[in-house]
Amino acid sequence: MLQLDFHPTGRHFLQIPGPSPVPDRILRAMSLPTIDHRGPEFGALGLKVLAKLREVFRTKHPVVVYPSSGTGAWEAALVNTLSAGDHVLMVETGHFAALWAKLAQRLGLKVEVIAWEGPDEHLPVAPNWRRGVDAALVERRLRADAARSIKAVCVVHNETSTGVTSDIAAVRRAIDAAGHPALFMVDTISGLACADYRHDEWGVDVTVSGSQKGLMLPPGIGFNAISPRALEAAKRATLPRSYFAWDEIVAMNKDGYWPYTPNTNLLYGLAESLEMLAAEGLPRVFARHQRWAAGVRAAVAAWGLPIQCADPAVYSPVLTGVITPPGVDADALRKLIHERFDLSLGTGLGKVKGRMFRIGHLGDSNDLTLVATLAGCEMGMKLAGVRLAGSGVAAAMEYFAAHPGGGRGSSPAG
Ligand SMILES: *Cc1c(COP(=O)(O)O)cnc(C)c1O
Repeated sequence: MLQLDFHPTGRHFLQIPGPSPVPDRILRAMSLPTIDHRGPEFGALGLKVLAKLREVFRTKHPVVVYPSSGTGAWEAALVNTLSAGDHVLMVETGHFAALWAKLAQRLGLKVEVIAWEGPDEHLPVAPNWRRGVDAALVERRLRADAARSIKAVCVVHNETSTGVTSDIAAVRRAIDAAGHPALFMVDTISGLACADYRHDEWGVDVTVSGSQKGLMLPPGIGFNAISPRALEAAKRATLPRSYFAWDEIVAMNKDGYWPYTPNTNLLYGLAESLEMLAAEGLPRVFARHQRWAAGVRAAVAAWGLPIQCADPAVYSPVLTGVITPPGVDADALRKLIHERFDLSLGTGLGKVKGRMFRIGHLGDSNDLTLVATLAGCEMGMKLAGVRLAGSGVAAAMEYFAAHPGGGRGSSPAG
């Protein structure tokens, strides 16, 4: 058990953008006894989960499930499809894109990182950490690759370090416009089941995801959705792989089993999560996150603070990055808010360390938990001496009240 030197009452506010708060239904599902992973009940569970997962990734092709964090699934995408020294093109949109590039380098790939270049807006970060992937930039780079040496294009769909999404369909169009054969790989570790995502329709070859963000599960599952082209590439790719190799997993998954012991209880949770998402319907799930994000942004605007994302067309529905005024250490502020109000906010990562905090609006949340989260932020900022233009809490309450959709609707009994 977690050792605490006091007995807190009420729920901790886990408002970081992953791990997200896990719904009680999922926690209960995971508390069932662990079963034989070679037995008949397990096969049925495996088949059910693998079929329903395809609906969330919007694919007809295999989705591989690893007992790993998202980072493992990043590695799996690369080692299954590429060979030592292969040239990969990555776009630096934030900290997670940079980490994926570092991982690729450590695997012995030749990594080329490109980034949007524009005027600096005198905010604490490089301008490319404030916008999505510039598809035109990708197209230009691919057109210039006359030798077709680039083997893969890798981008992040929802940059969790900044609160910026990227238009994946536009990147696909850019690759097609350049007539380039590179594989297309997308990290939607934090975007899946929060933001619209279409593996097949957008022509993605490998989609990488994880359990602890939009799927509302604890950490511990990584995913690869795999196109037929990627499966073909895997036959020729020679980077060393064993645990992450797709071939044996895809073969055994046909009967709902794995070559090794999968994380049984997390799969119970995943089955529950997939059922909840199917019952609500993905369009409503996405609209719910968009609405939460808009309410939170209304609060930040009322405070008079800048949002990390500079392009309203790609605001993240998953989280909002809030830039603190010069001289205000965002991490000291987060620490104060944690100590005083038992609320966890996301830290600024990499280049934005100390200059930004992130509010997660995903997982087991609702209008009132978000208003309370904003209240924690507002009280904390006042205690820290931050001068605010107005009340973010009041603005969020107004937004949620004026835009119905957060509750259960009227009960059938009236
Ligand atoms: C969380 C996250 C990761 C890393 O996943 P881990 O489970 O921590 O390994 C990578 N990319 C994005 C976009 C993420 O949000």
